[in-house]
Amino acid sequence: MLNIVIFGPPGAGKGTQSGLLIKNHQLVHCSTGDMLRAAMASGSELGLQVKDIIAAGKLVSDEIVIALIAERIENHPHANGFIFDGFPRTVAQAEALDGLLNSKNTSISCMLSLSVPETELISRLLERGKQSGRSDDNEETISARISEYKNKTLPVADFYQAQGKLVEIEGIGSIEEIADRISGALKDHL
Ligand code: ATP
Ligand code: MG
Repeated sequence: MLNIVIFGPPGAGKGTQSGLLIKNHQLVHCSTGDMLRAAMASGSELGLQVKDIIAAGKLVSDEIVIALIAERIENHPHANGFIFDGFPRTVAQAEALDGLLNSKNTSISCMLSLSVPETELISRLLERGKQSGRSDDNEETISARISEYKNKTLPVADFYQAQGKLVEIEGIGSIEEIADRISGALKDHL
């Protein structure tokens, strides 16, 4: 199986690049952000529970997102592989993911880490906010998201580096340029 973690700060382009990888490698998309937004849109109990946390730019509890990922994996027993987008965001989530994959006799193949300067992230997210209608694409929430990323999520890169799985990708340039860097890196790494 090809199991990829796509990693990077908010606005790094994880969702965009995931879309291309899914098409090329027939992977199942596991985006906790998308799943949480779907829950909010449906007005479910879960959606109501996470709404204010997301609007504040804080991380939702590990318990909630780990359960979403476990369910997604369970629902795709014959997958070619998975792409994890916006998950894991804490070391506890990364450990849980290792456990889930282990129980299926598989593991993470590599982590693709998109690096993008902070000024670029902020301008991308503000630009997206004009269209997205997302409760968290505004100036105040963006800075909260970036600080959550630095405090809680950055250590996840060290976790995969210790396993020899971290692959750094320059996340600036056109969508195609970045996609080419990713396919080159996957060829070298796998
Ligand atoms: P990108 O713009 O690169 O796609 P993002 O940071 O904008 O990334 P999402 O991954 O969509 O956004 O996440 C949106 C929000 O959903 C987060 O700020 C957080 O509140 C919540 N969330 C999503 N995934 C997780 C997770 N794994 N753990 C905790 N909270 C999460
Ligand atoms: Mg996203």
